[in-house]
Amino acid sequence: MIELRTPAEIDAMRPAGRFVAETLATLRDETAVGTNLLAIDRRAHDLIRRAGAESCYIDYHPSFGAMPFGKVICTSVNDAVLHGLPFDYTLRDGDLVSLDFAVSIDGWVADSAISFVVGTPRDEDLALIDTTERALAAAIASATTDKRIGDISAAIAAVARADGYAINTDFGGHGVGRTMHGDPHVPNDGKAGRGFPLREGLVIALEPWFLRTTDKLVTDDDGWTLRSADGSRGAHAEHTVAITADGPVVLTDRGFLGVD
Ligand code: MG
Repeated sequence: MIELRTPAEIDAMRPAGRFVAETLATLRDETAVGTNLLAIDRRAHDLIRRAGAESCYIDYHPSFGAMPFGKVICTSVNDAVLHGLPFDYTLRDGDLVSLDFAVSIDGWVADSAISFVVGTPRDEDLALIDTTERALAAAIASATTDKRIGDISAAIAAVARADGYAINTDFGGHGVGRTMHGDPHVPNDGKAGRGFPLREGLVIALEPWFLRTTDKLVTDDDGWTLRSADGSRGAHAEHTVAITADGPVVLTDRGFLGVD
């Protein structure tokens, strides 16, 4: 069921959005060559506790998960791209890191993801991240009341295809509200002009992710981490966006922090 939010409800979602944005910016600043993925999770847990927020991940146990997630952040490194379960791994020079983070505050969820390289980047990794971020920007620009879900999907796919990346539609964007995953599903590929008409009050997480040379995923033995089938690296970018009469409002925008 697709739920629409009043302007007052969208305002009530802002503290969660702001906290998620601030936390991702902090974690990115603090993550470097030599940082352990478990330390990122501990730091995120500490920030959650101090803010009085609630993790959407720690007890998360959907049908495809082998067990509850048990951590508060997804850390996907190199050929891992989604749902990376933090484990005892120390980041090395040139690693491509994606952090995906969702909490609720006062009962409202925000969900966002960033990708970046620690240490010396490879050009091909920076290009992949850039495409993913431009696909997210194109998705946000399409989140207006004169469009449909398919327009967002088509906008994401056009950016990826122009840069030569294949698209996997198994995991994509979703409604956000009292819970992390609601209707509608927002695939990262689709037909313009099709699907649910975008309405004022719809709040959705938009999340393009691409792998460098494949669209096939495999699941790790941990039951969560999704990796490319061919070992190529992946990148992921996500924002929670409210569709309003005045256009899209990015609830997890990091711009106010002086970062992108
Ligand atoms: Mg997310």
